[in-house]
Amino acid sequence: MEYISTRNKDLTFSFKDVFLKGLASDGGLFVPKKIYFYKPEELKKLKNLSYNDLATEIISKFCSDEFDKNELKDLINASYEKFRTKNVVEIKKIGELNLLELFHGPTLAFKDIAMQVIGNMYEKILKKNNKKINVVVATSGDTGAAAIHAIKNRNNMKIFVLHPKNKISEVQRKFMTTTKSKNVFNIALQSNFDECQKFIKSMLRDKNFSSSANLSGVNSINWARIVMQIVYYFFSYFKVSTDEKRVNFSVPTGNFGDIYAGYIAKKMGLPINKLILATNSNDILKRVINTGIYKPLKVKHTISPSMDIQVASNFERLIFDICSCDSQETIKLMNDLKVNGEFILEEKYLKKIKESFCSESLSDKETKLIINKLYKNHGMLIDPHTAVAIGAYEKLSLEGKIIVLATAHPSKFYNVVMNETKIKPELPENLKGILKEKEICDDLPQDLEKVKKYILSKI
Ligand SMILES: *Cc1c(COP(=O)(O)O)cnc(C)c1O
Repeated sequence: MEYISTRNKDLTFSFKDVFLKGLASDGGLFVPKKIYFYKPEELKKLKNLSYNDLATEIISKFCSDEFDKNELKDLINASYEKFRTKNVVEIKKIGELNLLELFHGPTLAFKDIAMQVIGNMYEKILKKNNKKINVVVATSGDTGAAAIHAIKNRNNMKIFVLHPKNKISEVQRKFMTTTKSKNVFNIALQSNFDECQKFIKSMLRDKNFSSSANLSGVNSINWARIVMQIVYYFFSYFKVSTDEKRVNFSVPTGNFGDIYAGYIAKKMGLPINKLILATNSNDILKRVINTGIYKPLKVKHTISPSMDIQVASNFERLIFDICSCDSQETIKLMNDLKVNGEFILEEKYLKKIKESFCSESLSDKETKLIINKLYKNHGMLIDPHTAVAIGAYEKLSLEGKIIVLATAHPSKFYNVVMNETKIKPELPENLKGILKEKEICDDLPQDLEKVKKYILSKI
């Protein structure tokens, strides 16, 4: 499979290039030149596969030039071996909702599902090519933890994680700062997530710095993350849809990575009706879907911090796709954003987006009510991100079954959950230790040069 950048259709890249670079040097995002389409009779053959076998089938469609199927199968088996549930994910039926629990990995958020595979892919690719690499990543809380746990203690790799100081939950932070691994570096930036992400992008785009420091990025702009996330859309569809009718997915959204994976699943032939883009009060994506105006505002701090994002990087991939892969049009819109602080989608593009997406947002107050209600009516503890997805679905009226992505374990945000339900969600037994461990983290000001200097001093 060949890849191109959203800002240049003429240059092609291999999976390995795309994987290691993360971001194209023209500032665009990598996308496949062509996406495999499963015909209905092919879908039937995938229906009864185990999670790992299904993952092998789907992921190999995107990286067969780098990994043969057996190699990939071993890699996937190794990646999910330590998950706390046999099939990687669980599906719980709560009233009419089908909750797709994606938080049974090592750091209790859906990001483990992609990141564990990515850690193993790195190791393989680096070994084959006799390379060393330094991973840089920005986090609103969960990405950093998942990346650290995928990369800690590996040879030939170091990882640098920027998080916005005091703007992530205690458990999120402890997952990152307590690993005691020599190749892990945590930086608490005196700033917000959007700035952290801007720093990472600018380091990756800076050719001199990026190549002299052997940088690689694993934020959700990395195409490989998207690929791994496509799998659970298929898996849950097969479990929930008995009649081959189209289903809806509600997805708590920040950087537009997870829901974009759902969009790719739909393009691959999975019968999806609507993808519900659920946001907290950082509702830029709701505004763009409902009005066509993409205009980042100031980031608001909410009880669902992993979605406290205004610049949803992956949205560029959707724009490129709905503009029929017109890179000039994509560049124009991105330039409008840079120059005018906003871009406006033409009606014909907006119409196309609305065929697949609809959107609602929840205030913190509404989110708390949902947490409260799920506990009262079903005795179920859910985290605030999952609550946003449930609440968004309830505000809409859609035909067909609904699968809600439950993206984090309630114990990761126990303060909020406990305030609403008076019950403290406990961490899984094998993870309780992290609460007492010593934390290792360095504070840095919002100054890109200082961050670069720090990284150079550690590699
Ligand atoms: C990262 C994250 C999200 C948002 O996912 P995106 O791919 O950035 O849209 C939602 N919920 C949780 C718990 C997360 O960690």
